[in-house]
Amino acid sequence: APIDTLSIQQQRRQLPAFAVRKDLIRAISENQVTIVIGETGSGKTTQLAQFLYEEGFASSLDKNGQKKIIGCTQPRRVAAMSVAKRVSEEMNCKLSEEVGYVIRFEDRTSPQKTVIKYLTEGILLREILIDPNLEDYSCIIMDEAHERTLSTDVLLGLFRKLLMRRKDLKLIVTSATMNADRFTRFFGDAPQFTIPGRTFPVDIMFSKTSCQDYVESAVKQVLTIHLQNSSKSKLNDGDILVFMTGQEDIEVTCELLKEKLEMLDDPPPLDIYPIYSTLPADLQKKIFSKKNEFRRKVVVATNIAETSLTVDGIKYVVDTGLIKMKVYNPKLGMETLQVVPVSVANAQQRSGRAGRTGPGVAYRLYTERATKNDQMHLQPIPEIQRTNLSNVMLLLKSLKVDNLQRFPFLDPPPQDLLSRSLYDLWVIGALDNFGNLTSLGSDMSNFPMEPTLSKLIILSCKNEFHCSEEILTVVSMLSIPSVFFRPKERAQEADSIREKYVIAESDHLTLLNVYNQWQQQLVKSNSSYKKLSIWCDKNFLQIKSLIRAREIRNQLVLIMKKYKLPISKSRSDDDVRKCLCAAYFQQLARLIKNNISGNSQAEYVNLRNKVMTMYLHPTSALNGGTDMAPNFVVYHELLLTTKEYMSCVTAVDPL
Ligand code: ADP
Ligand code: MG
Repeated sequence: APIDTLSIQQQRRQLPAFAVRKDLIRAISENQVTIVIGETGSGKTTQLAQFLYEEGFASSLDKNGQKKIIGCTQPRRVAAMSVAKRVSEEMNCKLSEEVGYVIRFEDRTSPQKTVIKYLTEGILLREILIDPNLEDYSCIIMDEAHERTLSTDVLLGLFRKLLMRRKDLKLIVTSATMNADRFTRFFGDAPQFTIPGRTFPVDIMFSKTSCQDYVESAVKQVLTIHLQNSSKSKLNDGDILVFMTGQEDIEVTCELLKEKLEMLDDPPPLDIYPIYSTLPADLQKKIFSKKNEFRRKVVVATNIAETSLTVDGIKYVVDTGLIKMKVYNPKLGMETLQVVPVSVANAQQRSGRAGRTGPGVAYRLYTERATKNDQMHLQPIPEIQRTNLSNVMLLLKSLKVDNLQRFPFLDPPPQDLLSRSLYDLWVIGALDNFGNLTSLGSDMSNFPMEPTLSKLIILSCKNEFHCSEEILTVVSMLSIPSVFFRPKERAQEADSIREKYVIAESDHLTLLNVYNQWQQQLVKSNSSYKKLSIWCDKNFLQIKSLIRAREIRNQLVLIMKKYKLPISKSRSDDDVRKCLCAAYFQQLARLIKNNISGNSQAEYVNLRNKVMTMYLHPTSALNGGTDMAPNFVVYHELLLTTKEYMSCVTAVDPL
């Protein structure tokens, strides 16, 4: 029978993992650690946890008589949500009952009922902080470990000791073929179990010349594939998957595809779906729709479709060969998002997506030469070797891992990154001169956010600042994607409406103002989604972001209550400005060149590190009008795009 008419249980039975279920369970029963390797789509993420549950691994009781549960970590929030949803359907239960998920600021589990819990790696790290033995769990599956996120590496290191304390805990590490041997060696020759895959050959086509504009090239390639392979009798011989770098270029690609299709005379039908992590869940689900003989589907995705989400029925892959990567520069103390070439191993993984249901073709929008010289690494660089480690260092210090030199890192971070991160923690007062956690540092680790933001919250509770009510809002607003909506064709209108929200010389206070107005609307409209949505559209605000900000704020309030921190309203805006100034003092900048006559940009330098010229981000409220730029500002972060931009800025008077 064709796949789409099979029942959900029949679909399960057809997965490669199902065929080897007995042996897999035996391997896991006989070993404390098992490395499971399998092609994307073989059923690791959706099936393993269910197998363990069905075999009774979640039936041992903890000391309170509660059943121990099976946890499965995911590097990405979207994957945790989407997979939990799918598995709850397979187990025929409501999401958040037997099967649930936990991501930052969102817990969809039930303490009584949940037996399978999908969670992000970051959440598991925080759970270790609360219970270093993870007593709630009988098994933990570390899924997608080959991704080697910062959290993967820290968790792996922590598990080395944890497994000695918890002899009854099972650890299953799943990995795509790349990197698997590293895990085996790390856990003292833990056995590898390979799920035999069904893969079909994929023809790889390279570009003859390196492309100028990857969005344009990708659109052209998709249309060529679509038009050349649609006939009267068969409008769809296979779906298309495009790898882009992020939300912006995915949206542009989808728009351009639509435009070009409309210009054609009666083209065969093509459904266009974007997928990226901040896309609302209902839209995400669409990419899983089954293959249709009469309509081709093109999914334009970030790296998320490389291994963590499986889209069935893909025959063609179009790969830009690029990925957006966070890279931290320890010399400048600045994190940048850069678009860089993927590694050869990632490129193979991407192409492989075309050969899941039959022979496929991968079109690479780069030359074969690019894969052979130094332009592409053979393997991806683990995050721990290129990112700011402050957050993780704070966590390890809270776990009393004092000697980082002796922590069992799979790949140790470079010394300059390590020193810089410790230095940053010392500067903000989280560590003392001996590198020990201060009481501020230990309070900071109670909040699941970057150190500057936790510090901001803790300072705001002090009597001298007395503004935690406001700061909680500011922090929540800084933890979401931008609330402002600025469609290209209505940019002017959007800008002039936005002016209404601006609070003098402060992006932070402007965010606070937007949130407060939204709260008023919530009351006025009696929380009617429809009314709120009209209000948001009219004011060029993103309703989804505002809803999320509210959820985050509620979660933060719970943490405040748990640690008995006061929630107090400020006496004036000055309290908030002073608090911002105190928390961000290492990000204090002085004006060195004004925007005289309005046609040059104001220039700033950081007061501590005076080397680099910085500018106000174009979206900053401080840019507007004819006002002179303020002499001193604090900024939330530094972004490198075409210039070094300070984003989210507030004028302060440090004297
Ligand atoms: P792996 O982890 O080995 O890559 P998965 O367990 O994620 O494999 O996927 C197994 C199968 O389940 C795939 O065929 C995939 O398409 C399907 N699947 C996974 N998630 C969903 C979903 N949300 N909706 C529909 N099908 C899904
Ligand atoms: Mg998976």
